Amino acid sequence: MRPITATINLEALRHNYEVARRHARGAKAMAVIKANAYGHGLMRAARALAEADGYALVELDAAVRLREAGYRQRIVLLEGFFDVRELAVIMEHKLATVIHSSEQLDMMKDVPAGAQLDVMLKLNTGMNRLGFQASEFQAALARVKAHPAVGSITLITHFANADDDKGVAWQLRMLERVAGADSLPRSLANSAAILRHPETHADWVRPGIMLYGCSPFPDSTGEDVGLKPVMTLASELISIRELVAGDAVGYGGGFVAEHPIRIGVVACGYADGYPRHAPTGSPVLVGGTLTHTLGRVSMDMLSVDLSAISDARVGTRVVVWGEGNPVEHVAHAAGTVGYELLCAVAPRVRIIEEP
Ligand SMILES: *Cc1c(COP(=O)(O)O)cnc(C)c1O
Repeated sequence: MRPITATINLEALRHNYEVARRHARGAKAMAVIKANAYGHGLMRAARALAEADGYALVELDAAVRLREAGYRQRIVLLEGFFDVRELAVIMEHKLATVIHSSEQLDMMKDVPAGAQLDVMLKLNTGMNRLGFQASEFQAALARVKAHPAVGSITLITHFANADDDKGVAWQLRMLERVAGADSLPRSLANSAAILRHPETHADWVRPGIMLYGCSPFPDSTGEDVGLKPVMTLASELISIRELVAGDAVGYGGGFVAEHPIRIGVVACGYADGYPRHAPTGSPVLVGGTLTHTLGRVSMDMLSVDLSAISDARVGTRVVVWGEGNPVEHVAHAAGTVGYELLCAVAPRVRIIEEP
């Protein structure tokens, strides 16, 4: 069997949820488990966070699976429904839904009274992705309030810059201006806002990436903000070679040795979810020592520099990311964010659960 595995540390996941809740003090926290819980496994994450106040995701089939598995908490669909049939499924399973567009409001016109649909009405405060415009919001709210099938209404918005210097104040000002007088419960904060902007915590926070131990900020790791990595993607060296000056490594000869060098080949490639665009120099932990990749990433393999790791041999453990080699560092080297790497772990990678 190929030696690549993703170990999922459920204790770390619970720890990180508690960190989110501690930051948010009185607010309730819906665990964001979209995209297969950011690559960690939907049911696995839900089970580890069985005590969560609620769950949030974007995939209706996954939300239904959660409900059918017996989870009774609020389960929110962050993009809502895409057609009327989905709306019927949402009501049948008592899911909560974001409503962000007048098209969705139109789809609700045939819903019978008494369904008690929990709605999160979305205001666009500057992200300019989903949500009613400031000028439309009050009319949308009036339509939702007047609808006989609506149970609770929560105001939701999303921050575009909670993780950088632009911050959240400009979006909060818009929120107050448009909906400040409505005494609706509010859900505003993603991970970055939970960690950095306590004024956004309100009634429900929405921690995503921080649950998985990854920092939402470009200049820190999860550990820096009190989180524990949940996923460790690990493999082994399956070949070791000595190169002489002039030898090239991998497709296209992307790395050429300038002097004799010992290299190792790791059973991990882009078909496992490792980013193909990670350049020479991306960090890898080999037998407990930090080193880096060499040359182009292949489908099933990548190569690493062993010049400083003389005791490395075939079978030596390699941490691709996770414990000892933060996913944020690998992501930074590859010009992306930890979110993308975690979500992309391929189905062929064997999962090991650590309770
Ligand atoms: C994904 C998502 C979140 C979680 O964001 P993180 O940065 O992962 O904490 C929160 N709210 C909405 C609407 C989302 O789509």
